[in-house]
Amino acid sequence: MTAHEDFSTLFERLPIGAYRCTAEGKLLRANAALVRLCRATSEDHARIFVNEDQGDWYLDTSRREQFRKALFETGEVVRFESEVRLATGAETRWISENAHLVKDSAGKVLYYEGTIEDITEQRHAQQALDLAFRRYQALTSKSQSASIVCSADGQILFASEAVNTLLGYSANDMVGTNLFDTMHPEDLAEHRAEFARVALNENSGQESVARHLHADGTWRFLASLASDAREDDAVGGLIVYWRDVTETHMARLRLRTIAETDSLTGLVSRAQFERTCVERLEARFALETPSAIFFIDLDNFKFANDSYGHWVGDQILIASARRLRELCQSDELVARIGGDEFAVFTAGEHAKHPEAFAASIVRLLSHPIKIGAIQFEVSASVGVACCPRDSQQFDELLRFADQAMFEAKAQSRNTYCVFTLELERRAREQSNLITDLRHAINLNEFIVFYQPQVDMASGELLGVEALVRWNHPARGIVAPDEFIRVAEEQGLISAIGLQVLQIAVPQIAKWRKVTGRALRLAINVSARQLRDRTLGAKLFELLSQHDLPPEALEIEVTESILIEASREGRDLLAEMRALGLRIVLDDLGVGYSSMAYLRQFPVDGVKIDRGFVEGLPFSAVDMAIVRSIISLARELNLSIVAEGVEVAAQRTHLLSENCITGQGFLFARPLPADLFETQGWLDTSLH
Ligand code: C2E
Ligand code: MG
Ligand code: MG
Repeated sequence: MTAHEDFSTLFERLPIGAYRCTAEGKLLRANAALVRLCRATSEDHARIFVNEDQGDWYLDTSRREQFRKALFETGEVVRFESEVRLATGAETRWISENAHLVKDSAGKVLYYEGTIEDITEQRHAQQALDLAFRRYQALTSKSQSASIVCSADGQILFASEAVNTLLGYSANDMVGTNLFDTMHPEDLAEHRAEFARVALNENSGQESVARHLHADGTWRFLASLASDAREDDAVGGLIVYWRDVTETHMARLRLRTIAETDSLTGLVSRAQFERTCVERLEARFALETPSAIFFIDLDNFKFANDSYGHWVGDQILIASARRLRELCQSDELVARIGGDEFAVFTAGEHAKHPEAFAASIVRLLSHPIKIGAIQFEVSASVGVACCPRDSQQFDELLRFADQAMFEAKAQSRNTYCVFTLELERRAREQSNLITDLRHAINLNEFIVFYQPQVDMASGELLGVEALVRWNHPARGIVAPDEFIRVAEEQGLISAIGLQVLQIAVPQIAKWRKVTGRALRLAINVSARQLRDRTLGAKLFELLSQHDLPPEALEIEVTESILIEASREGRDLLAEMRALGLRIVLDDLGVGYSSMAYLRQFPVDGVKIDRGFVEGLPFSAVDMAIVRSIISLARELNLSIVAEGVEVAAQRTHLLSENCITGQGFLFARPLPADLFETQGWLDTSLH
């Protein structure tokens, strides 16, 4: 007992609760700390309160049984934690108990003793911590962003659950690997540098995006934001937040690709072509090595697109684009820059031999394109401009290449043309011509010459062809060959044509009155004019204003017009014809397999081109052609006029072939109205 007594002060003064109980659990001794812990007033009070038979000190009534079971089975209880009721009744505390049995030499349990510690504060702290952790886990596992703690060289020390969603690996698997292991090789250099800046506390604090390989083998775009928390013991590394931005990144990328590529052909878009060319030219790329721009325009695209529909048109564009792409090397820029216009920028071998390359483009695109059962012969015209020879500016190079292409078109189509300064001069002239033409329309500078059509046997005047002239203030009288084509291209021909009508219709009305004869007025109409739906109405208004019957007017159209004119244009001609105007096919025999058109398109008369008349009566071929035209026209009941009759022998021959009406220098050149009158063409006497 002395030994016990030796420790009694210690027992009493222990800062934690200490006690001794009978084997049955009756409290024998409780030290002051235990009394305090129980909020009891005295040791006796505590005894009453804690004793087994005194009821439930443990909140969970099964705890006492568990405690005893553990104690008697193993002889001791270590850190047995329970919630207990205090003597004051209302309050509860958490305690941690250690206890052991004390036995006699025979092994009989004498009593047990132990300590009780109030762990309420610790417990609360722990609970708060647990809650915080659970919350953190819930948040991070559900979050689209993952947190990673890593060493300065990227070794992962901790990864939150969400890495699983982001990259398909468990957080545990990620620990020990390196942050850069999953990164796309192309993104490595930039991100390693960024990471190094974080470690030096020099980073911008901005998110950066890199591609990481997901466990499923796809690339994900992760935005990462890193900060240095090595100083913070709780972290001890760099913190990286990862956020999956694949969706937005892809969307942005898609938008950019839409702008950068032509959606139909997948080639580079015009805007992107310009940007890239400007960049490459600026990078003095072009100055060191020659480069070139090829401008490519399909020749017969419009025809196929209009007659077979847009789907076919699209297929032709796609097929042409594919051929171009295959012909070009990967570093050559191939763009679609307009409806049926393509462009190639190259600084490679092809730029050193631009003509050879242009020729191969022409050759490649001249192979027929098969769509369904139909073969389309879509050839191409190509223009080339070279840098630095022609220019070093993108805008200029493209314009020059375009001009050269235009020249190729004018030559024969299905060919190429290399830009020269002469071309540029002509182009400038052309643009001046356009400006001048617009002025000329406003200032009514157009006048009309009249060329008689006569009965070659009797010399009688049958009618006149109105031929436009431009009374240019500086250049004098300008022939139509010099401006009609440009006027057509610029959409000015309708305005000019209208001025011709406004001059010629009153003129013929006057001459009909003077002579009392049914003279006819022949007017030339181009395809572009047939797009004007109001043309028919305008003509009839003019005719009725001047009291003229519809058959007084003859509309001369060329075969090429019938080919080029839209369905509406042809309908308009048919409509005018139905109302009594005469439609005459001009320049018959030039260029096209014309006779077929006589069957397809009903006309009232034909004009034999002066090219055939020229060979009469010596060229056997011309004679044969003229003869067959005449007999065909006769069979179809068409009127015939021979153009370009210059010499008497031609007249004789034509008459012998039964072609009566003629027009040409033999009878008169085109004349202004006053000369026409003074030369006596209105005299009733025959010529
Ligand atoms: P076209 O309709 O075939 O007109 C006949 C052309 O042949 C006229 O040329 C005329 O001067 C010329 N010519 C007439 N007889 C002879 C001859 O014996 N020998 C030769 N060598 N030439 C002769 P021009 O007046 O220069 O007109 C050229 C073309 O311009 C016309 O060819 C016509 O297609 C077009 N054109 C003229 N006026 C108009 C117009 O008002 N509107 C439209 N759209 N085109 C017009
Ligand atoms: Mg004519
Ligand atoms: Mg003609």
